[in-house]
Amino acid sequence: MDYFNYKDNELYAEEIKVRDLVEQYGSPLYVYSKATLERHLRAFEDALVSKKHLVCYAVKANSSLAILNIIANFGCGFDVVSKGELMRVLAAGGSASKVIYSGVGKREDEIEFALQQKIKCLNIESESELYKVSEVAKRLGVVAPVAIRVNPNVDAKTHPSISTGLKKNKFGIAFEDSLRLYQIIKDDPNLEATGIDCHIGSQMTSGGPIIEATDKLIELYHQLEGIGVKVDHIDIGGGLGVTYNDETPPSPYEYLAAVLERLKDIDVSVYCEPGRAMVANAGILLTKVLYLKSNSERNFCIVDGSMSDLIRPALYGSWMNIVPAIKRGADDALEGSDSNGNKLYDVVGPICESDDFLGKDRNLNVREGDVLAVRGAGAYGSTMSSNYNSRPLCAEILVEGDKAFVIRDRQREEDLWENERIITKIEEQFS
Ligand SMILES: *Cc1c(COP(=O)(O)O)cnc(C)c1O
Repeated sequence: MDYFNYKDNELYAEEIKVRDLVEQYGSPLYVYSKATLERHLRAFEDALVSKKHLVCYAVKANSSLAILNIIANFGCGFDVVSKGELMRVLAAGGSASKVIYSGVGKREDEIEFALQQKIKCLNIESESELYKVSEVAKRLGVVAPVAIRVNPNVDAKTHPSISTGLKKNKFGIAFEDSLRLYQIIKDDPNLEATGIDCHIGSQMTSGGPIIEATDKLIELYHQLEGIGVKVDHIDIGGGLGVTYNDETPPSPYEYLAAVLERLKDIDVSVYCEPGRAMVANAGILLTKVLYLKSNSERNFCIVDGSMSDLIRPALYGSWMNIVPAIKRGADDALEGSDSNGNKLYDVVGPICESDDFLGKDRNLNVREGDVLAVRGAGAYGSTMSSNYNSRPLCAEILVEGDKAFVIRDRQREEDLWENERIITKIEEQFS
């Protein structure tokens, strides 16, 4: 459920017409609903009230400072995968004491910064990384809190590009090797094992895989007890899916209830790392129809948004719902439309790539100049955007009731080459 709804055939973000937002702030435009985000935050917190817990929002899904600030104020923690993300969390008012740090390739300076900030836990993804963290901790004179990110070899039953818990994936440490690594941690005065972690994939639409993974983590928990290691948390990762089309993922409550049931007799905190489920449906991308054109095979709806703004369709072939800002009736349709007033369009962007599309084979009743909304764009939208084709990054708006706030200015063209230099005399560079 979200707060992007039609009233009298006009799409609203909470209490503001989305067309008015485009009028005022331009297009393409990311728009977020604060009420929707808070609804999702509450859903995760409520689902876990019966046990000690920490919801660590996965920053890579949407790292806007305003959004991180709302999440920090709600009391949630964060899962980061780079120094940049950790610095964003701190800049947004988040506390390092609620940050966990994941990722297969943490650089030494990143590990050092994280330990200096006294983050909650580093999730370790290789034996070499473990030794690196120990070395840095020793140099700083601190004890590094660590968890092993276990790769439980569980099939998340999701798109191969976003599956992470199988042996063929680069993530985590094989279940069979984990106990040995915990023994190494136990024997190292610079390290302390505080948790067990996993993250098996994204956009999971059933609860089965996470239960399977939880059972593996519990098995390891008992093995650790056997070697005298007592961890304080079990982290089941993120990955809960959302509805883009006709998927029917469980609610956070349904998803987590089975996990809590498994963990009820174990004295640990439960951590989770939701990204997509927290923000996807709290955001839309608004884009204006520039041109309509047809050939003997297809109709194209050419919009000003593109794969540089929202790459999921081009990158993963993701289906995202595209809806008009005003719903036109069948009596207000272009020539050649079907009885409902629709034509079948490929919705494409201006970028010079054949894969630059936002949606294919969409029934739409649109005119040039109309505004379209791509729904479910709050996660892996803005964070994956680029300047390809020298397109400035979109402005971003947060709506709260009848108020709109600019949370990121539209990038200016001049900003595109801010850090570049022209080399007039090549010899000077080498002299
Ligand atoms: C991406 C990621 C998440 C979040 O995944 P979602 O599917 O967006 O919930 C959580 N943990 C880690 C380690 C990740 O890399």
